[in-house]
Amino acid sequence: MEQSQLATPYFMIDEGKLRRNLEICQQLKARSGVKLVLALKCFSTWGVFDIIKDSLDGTTSSGPFEVMLGYETFGGETHAYSVGYSEADVRAVVPMCDKLIFNSQSQLQAYRHLAQEKTQLGLRLNPGVSYASQDLANPARANSRLGVHFDQIDPSIFAGLDGAMFHMNCENKDASTFSALLTQISEQFGDYLDQLKWISLGGGVFFTYPEYDLDTLVEALKSFAERHQVQVYLEPGEAVITNTTDLVVTVVDIVENGMKTAIVDSATEAHRLDTLIYHEPASVTEADQNGDYEYVIGSCSCLAGDQFCVSRFAEPLAIGQRLHIQDSGGYTMVKLNWFNGLKMPSIYCQRQDGRIELLNQFDYQDFKRTLSQWSIS
Ligand SMILES: *Cc1c(COP(=O)(O)O)cnc(C)c1O
Repeated sequence: MEQSQLATPYFMIDEGKLRRNLEICQQLKARSGVKLVLALKCFSTWGVFDIIKDSLDGTTSSGPFEVMLGYETFGGETHAYSVGYSEADVRAVVPMCDKLIFNSQSQLQAYRHLAQEKTQLGLRLNPGVSYASQDLANPARANSRLGVHFDQIDPSIFAGLDGAMFHMNCENKDASTFSALLTQISEQFGDYLDQLKWISLGGGVFFTYPEYDLDTLVEALKSFAERHQVQVYLEPGEAVITNTTDLVVTVVDIVENGMKTAIVDSATEAHRLDTLIYHEPASVTEADQNGDYEYVIGSCSCLAGDQFCVSRFAEPLAIGQRLHIQDSGGYTMVKLNWFNGLKMPSIYCQRQDGRIELLNQFDYQDFKRTLSQWSIS
C-alpha cells in the first residue's frame, strides 16, 4: 500500500517515532524508578498497544469502558480513577483494576467496602498549585472539583488508604517547575504522604519533548520517592504519543474572502477537537514560514470559526493536494464525532519496515448506528 493511494482523511501513526518516545519512557523508568501508566483518555488506539506495552507498566482510565479496554488490550497494572463513580461503575471496575482512586472523601467512604482484596485504594488530592497554560485545563483553578483540597482533609482517612494521586500539570516542558511543585507538595502534604505505599503524580509532564531536561526530572522523582518512601507513578498521555501521528487531508476547494482559504476534507470540530477548544493552531508539514502564499486551512464543517491554522507556503496550494496536519495523535482519535456526517478518518500505522497497516475504517452504518438503532413504532 502506498500512502498516496489511501483515501483521505486518515490518521497515520508512525511506529518509528512512537518507539523514539518509548525509548525515553524506558530511560526515565530505569533511571528514576518511576512506574508509568498510559492515560487512555489521551490515546486509546489499542491496535498499536503491542508496540507500547513493553515500555510502560499499564494504563490509567476513568469510565468503565476505558478501564475494560486497558485491562483487556494492554494488561499490566490497571488504574481506575474517576471524578465521579456511580455504585454500578465501582462494581464494574473493581474486578479489573489494581488501583482504585477516588476523587473525594465521600466517594471513598461510600464505596471502599466494594473493593476486593487485591484492589488498592487511593485518593486524589488537590495541591492547590499547578502548571497549566489554560484555565480550562488547570486542575488548581478556582473552586476546582478535582481532588481533595488540603483544608478539607480528614486526617483519619489515611488509615486504610494505600496511595494518593496528584495531577497538576498540562504540557509542562520545564522540569524545574515540576520539581518545584513536588517540593511544595512535600511541604504541605508530607505527613500524610509518609503513611502511603504509592503516589501517582499524574500526567502532563512533557518529558519526551525535544531538549527536555530529563536529568532534573529523574532527580526530582527519585528524591520525592526517597523522602516519602513510596513507589512513584506518572500517568503520561500526550508525552507517549506526541509527534507520532499525522492527520492527512486533501484540499477540496480554495475560496478567497480577504484571505485565501484552502478547504480540506476534515474538520477540527469532528477530528481534531482540541484545536478548537484550546485555540491551538495546528502545524502543516508542507508549510514554509518564509513562503509567499498564505492560506487559512479551513474545515469542511458548517462551523464558521472551524479552521486548522493559518500557514504560508512556498507555492500556491491546489485542489486535490494533500496536507499533513502534524502531531494529531493525542486527544483526537478518542474524541472523534460524526458532526455534519463528515467522513470519519481511517486509522493506519506505518510500521518501521515501511508497511502500512489498517487499524480502523468507518462507513455509513457506523454513523447511522450512533444515532438510533430502532425507530419509533
Ligand atoms: C489527563 C490526565 C492525564 C494525562 O495527561 P497528559 O497531559 O495527556 O499527560 C493523567 N492523569 C490524569 C488524572 C488526567 O486527568
